[in-house]
Amino acid sequence: MNAELELLIKLHDLDIMIRDATEEQYANEEKDMGFVLRNLTSLQQAHDKLRAQLAPETLRHYDRLFARYGRAIAPVNEGVCYGCFLQLPTLFVQESKQNEGLEVCPKCRKFLYWL
Ligand SMILES: [Zn+2]
Repeated sequence: MNAELELLIKLHDLDIMIRDATEEQYANEEKDMGFVLRNLTSLQQAHDKLRAQLAPETLRHYDRLFARYGRAIAPVNEGVCYGCFLQLPTLFVQESKQNEGLEVCPKCRKFLYWL
């Protein structure tokens, strides 16, 4: 897998965990389910370490998507982007590096990873 894509997927997981732990609406849902997140500081440190390894333009695009949709990465299954449920164009699929490069969905612009 492309190193940058792998970092983005890890960053995305951490961002969702941090959001769930810090935003009241999500934090209450987690509490209701019996989860209590300890050590938010170490999560934040791991998060910052990941960000430092990513290119600024990648982070800009990622941040914009995360702020707008709450998700910045979408899986592709059988040629369908699960970020927007677009059947990806055949040529796009044929020419895709499929996890060996950074790609965005032509419709929702989310970063794609192929299942
Ligand atoms: Zn999409």
